[in-house]
Amino acid sequence: MRQLRRWVLGLLVALTAVGLIALQPRLAVQAKESAPPATLDSAGLTLEELANGVYGLVASVDFPPTDPNLAICNGGIVIGSDGVLVVDPFQTEALGDLLFDTVATLTDQPVKYVVNTHYHFDHTGGNPAAASRNLPILGRGPIREFMLTRNTETDPNVTPPEVIINGTWNLWLGDSPGLAQGQRQVQIREFDGHSGGTDLIAYIPDADVLITGDLLFNQRIPYLADGNIRTLQATLIQLMADYPLTTVLPGHGPVTDTEGLTIFKSYLDTLEGLALGWQTAGTSKEEALATPVPDPYQPFMFQALFPSNLEVAYNQITLGQDDAASIQQYLATQPRAVKAL
Ligand SMILES: [Zn+2]
Repeated sequence: MRQLRRWVLGLLVALTAVGLIALQPRLAVQAKESAPPATLDSAGLTLEELANGVYGLVASVDFPPTDPNLAICNGGIVIGSDGVLVVDPFQTEALGDLLFDTVATLTDQPVKYVVNTHYHFDHTGGNPAAASRNLPILGRGPIREFMLTRNTETDPNVTPPEVIINGTWNLWLGDSPGLAQGQRQVQIREFDGHSGGTDLIAYIPDADVLITGDLLFNQRIPYLADGNIRTLQATLIQLMADYPLTTVLPGHGPVTDTEGLTIFKSYLDTLEGLALGWQTAGTSKEEALATPVPDPYQPFMFQALFPSNLEVAYNQITLGQDDAASIQQYLATQPRAVKAL
């Protein structure tokens, strides 16, 4: 009888333990379910096919966004015959999850690589979604150091890339002869001008699609507080020379081609012209900052960033303070909401 009681007690303890263990994942699932998953609609994203197996997730939000669940930047998806590469998993884990969920609606191929075009939080805050899937995240130059020291204010879960790529890299997504996408590769190249040494582009040669990150803001006033106007002008000239017929997915704004690069270069040339005029006329910074948005750029979104563009032009061109230390000093004075974009 005592043995039976002990056996029943033992069984009860075992069942309780099993029950608790079984309950834990359910609780975890419930916790995750309490935040509704992002949808393309709730994120303000449009899925666009740029070429066979190459997609852009294009954001339409203005800045600053009215809703934190809206994606700020554009994301990219490149599908090969035996793997997928994704670019810039947006600013939150939920939006990063949405990127991977979207891939799953397009292909059964596994994601092999996640690329950050630069360190700014609106492109890297979704990295935890890649880390939780054990996917390698690739970035350039000082991206780890910059994310770990500069992104903590804007990103509660800073997750820097584990693979640092410098120079030019070719990533293969399948080499099965005879398949339409059999030879698909993505070329990663470094360029400069937007984010102090972490900018890179992704180019898909067989599809002639270029993913620029924030080296291109298309029909948007750019974020320049972390960049160098003259370096960015030179980068745009190089991109136009190297990728003349290309379909271009910018970091912000609608899909374009070389025309988008040309218009953005003209915008920077206009800023440069204004700044040289202030230099000749001895204009004070206060007067310079009162300059209205020039006519051709009034339809652009992100108008809230224009005063800072004027200040960057004044500092870097009128005053000639365009060394890395001066740029970083200016960046440090920026309000948290626009620390980097
Ligand atoms: Zn951005």
